[in-house]
This record gives sequence, C-alpha cells and structure tokens, in this order.
Amino acid sequence: MTTHFDLIAIGAGSGGLAVAERAAQHGRKVAVIESHKIGGTCVNNGCVPKKVMWYAANLAHAVDDAAHFGIPAERGTTDWQKLVGGRQDYIGMINRYWDGYVVDSGITRIDGSARFVDRHTVDVDGRQYTADHIVVATGGYPIVPPLPGADLGITSDGFFELAEQPRRVAIIGGGYIGVELAGVLRALGSDVTVVGLEARVLETFDCMLSEVLMDEMRKQGIALRTCFQVAGLARTEAGIALDASDGERLDGFDTVIWAVGRAPNTRSLELDNAEVATRANGIVPTDEYQNTNVEGIYAIGDITGRTPLTPVAIAAGRRLADRLFGGKPQSRVDYDNIPSVVFSHPPVATVGLTEQQARERYDRVTIYKTDFTPMRHALSPHGVTTAMKLVCEGDSERIVGIHLIGDNVDEMLQGFAVAVKMGATKADFDSTIAIHPISAEELVTMKTPEPEPHTNHCVDCGTEWREVETA
Ligand SMILES: Cc1cc2nc3c(=O)[nH]c(=O)nc-3n(C[C@H](O)[C@H](O)[C@H](O)COP(=O)(O)OP(=O)(O)OC[C@H]3O[C@@H](n4cnc5c(N)ncnc54)[C@H](O)[C@@H]3O)c2cc1C
Repeated sequence: MTTHFDLIAIGAGSGGLAVAERAAQHGRKVAVIESHKIGGTCVNNGCVPKKVMWYAANLAHAVDDAAHFGIPAERGTTDWQKLVGGRQDYIGMINRYWDGYVVDSGITRIDGSARFVDRHTVDVDGRQYTADHIVVATGGYPIVPPLPGADLGITSDGFFELAEQPRRVAIIGGGYIGVELAGVLRALGSDVTVVGLEARVLETFDCMLSEVLMDEMRKQGIALRTCFQVAGLARTEAGIALDASDGERLDGFDTVIWAVGRAPNTRSLELDNAEVATRANGIVPTDEYQNTNVEGIYAIGDITGRTPLTPVAIAAGRRLADRLFGGKPQSRVDYDNIPSVVFSHPPVATVGLTEQQARERYDRVTIYKTDFTPMRHALSPHGVTTAMKLVCEGDSERIVGIHLIGDNVDEMLQGFAVAVKMGATKADFDSTIAIHPISAEELVTMKTPEPEPHTNHCVDCGTEWREVETA
C-alpha cells in the first residue's frame, strides 16, 4: 500500500527541512525522507561544526594577544577531545531540536534512502510513497579525485571525525573550505600546508581578498604551495607524501585533507525513472522557480549547483512552498547579490561583483579601497590587516560589490548587503554618519578612488591572477 502526500522532500538538510516546514505551515500533508542525520550537511558536517572550531581558533588567537593587554593568559596544548566532544554535544542538541520540530509540525519523517519509481512515486527500502509535488534536496558530498593513493587522504567529513588533533597536515585545495580548515588547525597548534592548483587561494573571489588572506596565512606560519598539481598520494617512512605532476614531492604529513570541491548526491536517486534531466556532473538544473524539466518535480539547494550556501537552500525551499501552496505564484529566490562569508583567519565577507567582473560588465567602474590595522591589535604584535573595497559603476557610483577581509567583517557585511540590494550609491554611504571607533566606519568614509586596476602575480610561478568564473 502506498501513502500519498501533497509534498515529499527528499533530504532533511537545509533545503528539504525548509520546504517541508513551510508546506506544513500552509496546512499541507508533508513527508521528509532522510538517509543519514537530520539537519544535513550544515548541521552535521558543515557550517555548525566548522563555526564551533572557528570560535575555538579565535579564542586561541585572543589568548596569544591577551598578555599584551595586561591580561595574564598562556596557551597550553589544545584539549582536542574536549573541544570535539562539546561540539558534538551541541550538534546533538540541534538534531534533537529538529526531531521534535518535525513531529510537532505534523511532518511525516521517513528514514532511509529514496529512489524514484516514477514521476510521482518514490521508494524507500521497499515501501512506496506518492506525492503531487516532490522536491529533490539531497545536497552533495566531498570529492576525492581518482588519483593513485587518494584514499590516504580524508575529506572535510573526515576532518570532523578526527579523534586526535593532527600534527602535520596538508590541505589540498585553496577554496573556502580549504582555507577555513587551515586557519582553524594552525591556530590550534598544527603545522599546516595548503596546496592549491591555482595561483591564489579563493580564486573566484576579488583578488584583493586572496592577496591579503595569503599574506595573513603566511604570517600565521601556514605554508602555501600554489600552482601545485597533485598527481597522487603515497605512504612513505615520513608519513604521507603529495606527489606533483612535475615530480616534486611534499612529504611527512600525518593527515592529508582533500578540499577540492563537492559533487551532487544524485547517484542513488534513479532520476531516470522519473525522466528528470541532469547535467553530466549530476547537477539537477532548474529554472528560476526551482522547476526541473518534469512538472511536479523540483530541486533546491546544493543539488542545483547554484550558490551552495545554507541560507540559499532555505530561501529556495520556503519560496517554493509559498509558490505552490501559499498563493504567491511569483515567489522565487533572486540569486543576485547573495552575501557570503569565508570563516578564514581573518574572515572574508563579500557581496556582488568583483572588481574584474564589474570591469567586464560596465564601461565606467570606480574602485574605493582601504587597508589598516584595526584597534583590536593596538597593543599586540600580531597586527592583522583589515582591507575593504567598494566596487561602483556609472556616474551615480552605484555600489555593485563590497569585499572585506579582517576581524569582524563576518558580522559587518549583512547590513551593507541590504544597502547593495537596495541599489545604494557611494553618495548614500558618504551621507551616512560613521560609528566610531569601529572598523566598519571605514566603509562610509572612503574618499579617493583607486587610480589603476588591481593586478598581481603568483609568488610561486609568476602566473597573473585571474578570477575564475563560477557556474
Ligand atoms: C565544511 C563545510 C562548511 C560549510 N560552511 C558553510 C557556511 O559557513 N555557511 C553556509 O551558508 N554554508 C556552508 N556550507 C554549505 C552548506 O552546508 C550547504 O550549502 C547546505 O547544507 C545545502 O543544503 P541542502 O539542503 O542543499 O543539502 P544538505 O544540507 O547537504 O542536505 C541534503 C540531505 O539529503 C540527504 N540525502 C542524500 N541523498 C538522499 C537520498 N537518496 N534519500 C534521502 N536522503 C538523502 C543527505 O543525507 C543530507 O542530509 C558548508 C559546507 C561544508 C561541507
């Protein structure tokens, strides 16, 4: 016997829970299917455990600085088990919250792996469920490339399972997850090497951010190897070695972390049975309303390959439910000007176009830029640079990009992102009275435009930096 629902969400991560919750609020009969842990990547292997570790790293930096402010404090060895234990308890609390919330909201929870039988039917462990609307929200998994010895390395999932603090770590990949893990591990006392294929870390971000972050990472003692193409991993007497395609070897690591991107979780879904189109890489493409090519089947979140962030998946889920059941036929996500933060040390925050993207799109681009050491570091020798860039277009100097790196920029950007979304101009920023003394005041007090476009070169191979187009 099959059970019928108005809506089934496949995946109880950020997107699946959001669409299920909102559909239930509209009075619909809803089920959510989850093959692993409720909360998905963000709660269990992503944002939440990562941010707990980031706070620990911030505290470690604060202890390093405390004595310079007359506060006696000394670093000892990190109690990794205590940190990880506390983190997992916190995650358990969030899992239990969601377990209770799903029940209280009248959502049917189905544990197991879903696969499509046809356009309106899914199978979970031999039981079949039908629905008028089925939402694919199965997210992604970290990629391990098919190279010799690749399984000697772990992924970000494996990082969150480490019972002991690694001593000598190589992180392969200079994207946001790579630089975040590098900053955490270094602050907590590990030796860290970041190996990247590209000339700079954060290659899709504004060049200024990469430049300042690479300087700061090096100052912290993180070894950066850019333009290094890993051809394989090998077990050696010294530990694990990374072999480059040109024969170079980096040896002696006890832990190697692959941070080379994520692939969509489509393999087990048998989407062909419902005739849902996928791209060669498994991405499920949708239109701007999250419709797949099959009526009644939708995709949201990381599986769509669009801006893989938790708030984006949540917004897509809520707006889809509002469109289907809430009398809002135009409800959809605007994928322009989505702000995001990289929880590196120091953090990076960005919204809108990079300088290069703006120059490619507009005839008249004006750049305002500043860098300084914030007052937080006035008494300590570990002065961490803060840098800010405003990208403006046209005679009105409409602000089309804001790029920030430095202490507290993670909290700073959200409000400024509202201003960008509203079409604020440089004159609007100039007419806003500053708050003093904080770093953010610099954003409303920048005076002189930059005379020249920004360029830079890789210190390892001399390649000119270029921003890589995102999908
Ligand atoms: C290390 C790391 C750090 C991150 N940090 C941030 C951050 O700071 N901020 C931010 O916004 N984003 C961050 N992200 C990204 C964020 O976690 C994702 O964008 C978000 O979780 C996507 O939500 P989703 O609903 O698309 O998929 P997910 O949250 O991945 O949920 C998908 C769910 O579907 C389940 N599933 C898969 N296949 C099936 C099946 N066949 N049947 C049933 N269930 C299935 C999975 O088990 C999973 O629970 C981070 C990601 C990682 C890996």
